[in-house]
Amino acid sequence: MAERLYHVDGELRPRSEATVSVEDRGFRYGDGAFETMRAYGGAVFEWAAHVDRLEATCEAIGLDHGLSRGDLRERIDETLAANDLLDAYVRLSITRGVQPGKLTPGPAVDPTVVVVAKPLPRGGLSGEAIWADDGPAALETVRTRRVPDEAIPAGAKTHNYLNGILARRELHDADEALVRDGEGYVAEGATSNVFFVTGEGVRTPTTDGPVLPGITRRVVMELAEEAEIPIEEGYYEPAAIREAEEVFLTNTTWEVRPVRTVDGIDREVGPVTELLARLYDERVETACY
Ligand code: PLP
Repeated sequence: MAERLYHVDGELRPRSEATVSVEDRGFRYGDGAFETMRAYGGAVFEWAAHVDRLEATCEAIGLDHGLSRGDLRERIDETLAANDLLDAYVRLSITRGVQPGKLTPGPAVDPTVVVVAKPLPRGGLSGEAIWADDGPAALETVRTRRVPDEAIPAGAKTHNYLNGILARRELHDADEALVRDGEGYVAEGATSNVFFVTGEGVRTPTTDGPVLPGITRRVVMELAEEAEIPIEEGYYEPAAIREAEEVFLTNTTWEVRPVRTVDGIDREVGPVTELLARLYDERVETACY
């Protein structure tokens, strides 16, 4: 099989040559922005939303990379084409590049721009869901709290994922951490948004708290509204999740992933989760094929 090609600073390079400098601020400090996307049938799902959020991240960290949206998209499309990929995981990273010796950031004169694309078969109706190998998730409440917005804005998807890494380190026999904010309300997973279902409808923590505004989260909320399922955003205690009828997680890679246990309490994968997972797959079908 041909060696995978990565897009690094405007060039397609084989893995062994796809390198960045040891002085790169993304490596040194986590000083960079990224997006994880999925391509279905060669088309990037929710591209506009991803590039909007990337811009918001760059704005939040003052990273002026100087590349147009069209240029970024072109690099992604080239990476997909060069690797013969239709259904793929795509990661676009932009760091402030090399600025030796200073924590204080200067202008991003020479930002580092990397696109990585790997095969990721479509799940949902057309096949097995991507989490199917592992099955529905086990979720566990952890002690690590979400960094407050006043320290690092949760809306910025930066290279610094230590908060989530520390949360996941605590897991005993679970797939995802249920992370609370400083007040003790549920914020999100280490790399996912959290939803739960009660008799009154679907609930999810508000992005007024330290919660990444997930693109899958937004799509699922739209789908719930279209299906006339009441949806509410708010501040919830972990007990509300433990007692809920259904719980599910969302992110770009997992799409809608049911939760089978919360803090060791088992639950069935319920009909609302199944319906939203199906509607999500139909949205992918309409948008990308
Ligand atoms: N929350 C965090 C902390 C994440 O890292 C992610 C995705 O990686 C999400 C939520 C879900 O976001 P999206 O649906 O845009 O993938």
